[in-house]
This record gives sequence, C-alpha cells and structure tokens, in this order.
Amino acid sequence: MKGLPAETDFVVIGAGVAGLRAAIELAAGGRVLVLAKHASGQPHADSGQTRLAAVLSDEDEITLHLQDTLQAGDGLCNPDAVKILIEDGVKRIEELIAWGTHADRKGTKLTFGPESGHSRGWLLHAQGDSTGTEILRVLTAKARSLKNISIAQSIFTTKLVSENGRVTGVSFLDAQGVALEVSCSAVLLATGGMGQIYRHTTNLEPATGDGVALAFRAGAELSDMEFVQFHPTVLYLKKAPRFLLSESLRREGAQLRNIELDRFMGKYHPMGELAPRDLVARAIVHEMEVSRAKDPVVYLDLTHLNPAKVQKRFPRIYATFMQHNIDITEDLIPVRPAAHFAIGGVRTDLNGKTNVAGLYAAGEVASSGVHGANRLPSNSLLESLVYGARAGSAMRGELRESRKHDHPPNAASVVGPLDSGIEESIAQIQDVMWNDVGIVRMRTGIQRAVKTLEALATKVQNPRTRRTCEAANLHLAALAVARSALSREESRGAHYRGDYPDHDDKKFLKHSVVRAEKVVFV
Ligand SMILES: Cc1cc2nc3c(=O)[nH]c(=O)nc-3n(C[C@H](O)[C@H](O)[C@H](O)COP(=O)(O)OP(=O)(O)OC[C@H]3O[C@@H](n4cnc5c(N)ncnc54)[C@H](O)[C@@H]3O)c2cc1C
Repeated sequence: MKGLPAETDFVVIGAGVAGLRAAIELAAGGRVLVLAKHASGQPHADSGQTRLAAVLSDEDEITLHLQDTLQAGDGLCNPDAVKILIEDGVKRIEELIAWGTHADRKGTKLTFGPESGHSRGWLLHAQGDSTGTEILRVLTAKARSLKNISIAQSIFTTKLVSENGRVTGVSFLDAQGVALEVSCSAVLLATGGMGQIYRHTTNLEPATGDGVALAFRAGAELSDMEFVQFHPTVLYLKKAPRFLLSESLRREGAQLRNIELDRFMGKYHPMGELAPRDLVARAIVHEMEVSRAKDPVVYLDLTHLNPAKVQKRFPRIYATFMQHNIDITEDLIPVRPAAHFAIGGVRTDLNGKTNVAGLYAAGEVASSGVHGANRLPSNSLLESLVYGARAGSAMRGELRESRKHDHPPNAASVVGPLDSGIEESIAQIQDVMWNDVGIVRMRTGIQRAVKTLEALATKVQNPRTRRTCEAANLHLAALAVARSALSREESRGAHYRGDYPDHDDKKFLKHSVVRAEKVVFV
C-alpha cells in the first residue's frame, strides 16, 4: 500500500489467520489497517504440514472433540471457551469453504484424517498437508477484496500508545526504519507466538513474543505463560531449518532410535512412538542425556517401510529432505525436540478483550482458556479463526468519534549502528531458556535462568531499532515464562517439573497471572 495513514478506525497487528479473520469482521464497522512485520508468505499457518481440527455436524463428534480438548488441557481449559471453539468452528469452516477454500474431498465429501490425541479422524486437510497455507490464501484474497481493509507488510510495531488508560494507537517503524504513529479506536494483537525465546524452535524468526511484550508494557495481564508446548521430532542438522516431522510419520510406522540405534519408546510408554507429545519429548531428552554425546540427537527411522508408499504418502517431506541429501526411505533422520507453541499469552475474555480498554488479542498471542495446560494438536488454526472473528466482531463496538492525538509525533529515522552486541544478548536468552526452562525443569535451573535474565535487563534497555526491540520483547517474554515456571511447583500439561513430578490440584488447579513482576494464581 502507498503511504500509511496517521489515523484509522481499527488497527490489527498481525496478518496471520487470526489477524486476517478479525480484519474481515472489522471491515463492516470501519477502516481497518493491518500491520505485519513479516514480508509476504511468512505467518505460521504457512509453515508446511498443517492441519485443522474440525467437526462439521455430528453431535457425538462435537462431544468427542470437546472431551479430547479438555483432556489435553489437563484441568485448566475454560469449558465455555472450548465449546465456543468447536461450535463457532463449524460456521467458520463452512464460511471458508464458501469463500473458496479447496478442502480435500473424496467425491463430494470432505476428507478428514487422523491426528494424535484426537479420538476420531476429524482433521480437515486441504492440498494434502498444507491446510494452513490454503486458509491463508483464501483469507488474504477475501481481505484484499474489501475496500475498508489495508494491509501493510514489513511494518514493525514498537509500542501501544495509551491515553488515560485506554489504548488509542500504535507506534511503528516503517520498512525504511522511520518511526511513525497511527491513532485509532481500538487495537487487536494477533502477533502469533514466541518460540524464538528458545535456542531450538519450529517457529519462524518473527515469533519473538512482540504481542505479549507490547500488551504487558501497556498494563495487560499475561496468563499461563509457563505452558509451552515442545514438539518431539524436529530435524536437527547444522545449517538446515528446524523442519517439523509430524506424528503422521510415526503413525505410518516410523520408529525412534537412540544413538546406539536401539528403539527406546517401549521403555517409556505402552503406546511406544505414539505416546502423547510431551512424553515422547521427555523420553528423547532422557535418551540424549544418557548418550553423553557432545551434540546429541535421536533418529527417526522409516527405512523398514515400503519406499514407494513413503514417497507417495509424504511427497513434501521426501522432496524437502532430498534437498539436504537425506533420502528418508534409506537414511536415518536426526531429530531433537524443539519449542513449538505458546499456550499462554495475553489474558482475554471470550471475545478477545484484555483488561486494558481498547486492547484485544486473538490467536496464538492470546490466552483465552481454550488450551488449558496443553494444546490438543491442530486446535490452534481453528482457535485463530474462531477467536479472530469474535474479537473483530466485539471490537466494532469500540468505534469512537475523536481519535486525533494531541501531539502527533514527528517522523524520525532510527536506523543506525544501534544493534551492536544485541545478537549476543539474544543468544544468551535463548540458551538459558533452552537449558533451564525447557522440557524438564528444576527449581535450581529456573532460578539460574531468572537471575541470568534479570542481569541481562540493562543490555536490552531503551531499544530503538527493530532488532533491539525484538531483543527487549524476547527478554520480557522469557522472564514471564521463567517466573511463571518457577511459581508453578507441580507438573501439569506441558509444564514438567522434575522436582515436582505430580499434580497439586489443591494449590495449582488455577491459572497463573503475571502482574508487574509478580506471578499470582487465580
Ligand atoms: C511448523 C509449524 C506447524 C504447525 N502446524 C499446525 C497444525 O497442523 N495445525 C494447527 O492448528 N496449528 C499448527 N501450528 C500452529 C499455528 O500455525 C499457529 O498457532 C497459528 O498459525 C497462529 O496464527 P496467528 O494468526 O495467531 O499468528 P501468526 O500466523 O504467527 O502471525 C503473526 C503475525 O503477526 C505479525 N507480527 C508479529 N509481531 C509483530 C510486530 N511487532 N509488528 C507487526 N507485526 C507483527 C507477523 O508478521 C505475522 O503477520 C503450527 C505451527 C508451526 C510453527
């Protein structure tokens, strides 16, 4: 788009599934400016093997999807939020299909595939394993067809502007690094996850926890930050991207082997390789530790399977690995777990509203109570669609007459040699989080992490460039995760404490909330 406005009705930060779906809803209420820091084609829905949990009609299936989600959430889901997810989900998917989504079909019927943790196969597939890419394509086309929506990419939001306790606009750096501001009636954060706080993650570079940091600095509460889902099997090869190898490979018979090439999952769980995600991740961590290897891995082994079948069933994975000289039908695949999904985030009600007037959040950045203590695989694209639409609809009621700021800022260029040493600080954050607030956590390790992060505070102060702002955001998000993980002295869902391996329902069947530097349980 040409030139950004100094004033609009609504600002949506993020052009992933949540942001675009919200913008479409908001367009009926006024002008919408969507800001995204990524260049084209990088929201997370576009990450390759993506599927979406969907139930389209049958009452039994609705009940089962609800039960599976509540079970995965390990006591902390808000049942009303889950009910909304599943019931509104039907409308959101029918609408996507009406807007032109090419969902896979057998004859005239939509095809659904299986997924771990789900009692039935209700995973909607589009274009094989590229459901997210297809949904983004359709939402982008729909948003671009609405004249009230403008989408600006390579724009980095640095701050939420507030007046008298109400969010009234955002400050941002444009593609040239010039600082600008836009005022509006309400802002939606749809900034995705924060996987980059960890050394190893499936998340792309933009996932630096910006939304969580922007919201917190504006006075919003963060909730359930200790719950980070780790994916057990992610390609681990120097210089190769952290490519996720989904459960579908293990369901087709792929086996996990340690560096002695022994199968090991049978020792840990009767379901072997098909055990729940967290258990597989913890078993792998243990095997890597006892191997005492300097740069440990385990292997995913498909070599005993029919090569033609493997190539036909996983064409995208086969082709991607051939680019790294790995023939998955003949070679073992080195894998490790990696941080995958932020279950916690900015605390919202069932319409995406935060505790700060004029501020909403939806999608992975939000903590709406849908996932509880752990996310059921494939529920997050649905969450982004459903809660993006709900937030957009609720935000329409925030439209206000006067949006002009008293003191419009002067545009000022902030490009300059301000990033020196920042990569080192980011690496320290990622290392300490991976080593001490990762898959298996202990009090001494988490305390060490909190101390290290607190000591890093001065190095990420007064950020001005995009990268220094990202460093400050990573730092804030990492501290919130570490402090919450330290406070929850039990194991639940995705949070595993080696020193407190059991549930403690009496003290902790509650949500953690980060307020200022304190973590409370409510
Ligand atoms: C490898 C991988 C596979 C996955 N597979 C599945 C799956 O099969 N099924 C499923 O349901 N989920 C899956 N997920 C999770 C799912 O893709 C995400 O949870 C979901 O796409 C999040 O959508 P979102 O709209 O909240 O955020 P995102 O898609 O992450 O978009 C965030 C947006 O915010 C923008 N942004 C961030 N910070 C700023 C800033 N400071 N200023 C301006 N813009 C900013 C970004 O540029 C981007 O446009 C997967 C995730 C990964 C990484």
